Amino acid sequence: MTVLDVHRLGIACAACCFVQLHNHKWNAFKSSRLFDRGTQERLRTRGHHPLSPGEFTAVRPGECHRFRSLSELVEAIEIYSPAELAEDIVSARKSGGFSMEYGDEIMGSGLARGAHARGVKIAFGDGRKIIWNECAHLIFRGNPNVAAPGQERADNLEWIEHYSGARRYYRFGSGERRQMIFASGTQRPGELFFDPSELEFAERVGDDFIVVEPNTVNDAPNKQWGRQNKRWGLDRYRGVAHLLRDRGFRVVQFDAGAQAIDGIERIATPSFRTACAVLARAALYVGPEGGLHHACAASPVNTPAVVIFGGFVSPAVTGYAQHVNLFTGEGLGCGNLDPCEHCRVCMSKISVEQVIDAAMSLLK
Ligand SMILES: [Zn+2]
Repeated sequence: MTVLDVHRLGIACAACCFVQLHNHKWNAFKSSRLFDRGTQERLRTRGHHPLSPGEFTAVRPGECHRFRSLSELVEAIEIYSPAELAEDIVSARKSGGFSMEYGDEIMGSGLARGAHARGVKIAFGDGRKIIWNECAHLIFRGNPNVAAPGQERADNLEWIEHYSGARRYYRFGSGERRQMIFASGTQRPGELFFDPSELEFAERVGDDFIVVEPNTVNDAPNKQWGRQNKRWGLDRYRGVAHLLRDRGFRVVQFDAGAQAIDGIERIATPSFRTACAVLARAALYVGPEGGLHHACAASPVNTPAVVIFGGFVSPAVTGYAQHVNLFTGEGLGCGNLDPCEHCRVCMSKISVEQVIDAAMSLLK
């Protein structure tokens, strides 16, 4: 078999829609060339529906086999060789493209809060199968409120449809634009359960530092859709970091991601979980909307945060009341998954001084 074996990839066809990928494969798929607008147009001209990932979750693998193999699929869309797909999957894996949903899983831990105390476990999945991606395995480690894959038959389950490709706070638009359409809803702070080695690592880093993080959790240089619209810009982060440093604070950033602030200590953590354990000892986080800001809100992290939203998504969707949330967009956010001039302008409306003022207000 090859890595592209259709069943192994979890590909199934939705009746006249497209393919369905499960779990982490879905992430690779989203960042692959299969997902671009050209592909959607080619599908449309061939009588298929345009790619509408929101619909995929309604169709389970095995229910339809319009494309019985990946080569049939590739043939149908004519643009993509199996070798190219393999390459994309490998590069997505290397670049952290499989790890872009830490924040989503932390939100899941918020949804599951209190389940153990009620005598139940939350099953995240489609009602039949518990569906965890690689991030879920990490984030839910040690969490007594959730049922793990394989525990589908337990009699104390409460099912919540929350997994890669099925999140409550957004759906994908079905129009021309590659767009997330958001739903508002207060986020319940999540929970992380650190193990002793993670806590020990964090203890060695110390206390009372400020994390200024210009990178989103996995700011991979390749096609991380939407990521660029969450960036405030390295120069502005540098401005904040240096001003705080000049005021006598110990300022650090994590050693993950391409954007490094010169003159600022970098902390290399062995995992995202360890970074969260370190974050728990910080006096403040300044950074983008993303996995780390969700971690700040989670217990036992509880770190004050200045979260730079810009215009992509509103704090009414993914924010927490205890943070300073800097949102300069409209409505629930544009959700544009392509590089967005609107988001660039929204980011430019947030000044270094404003962020410093917010930081100082939380440090008092
Ligand atoms: Zn925008």
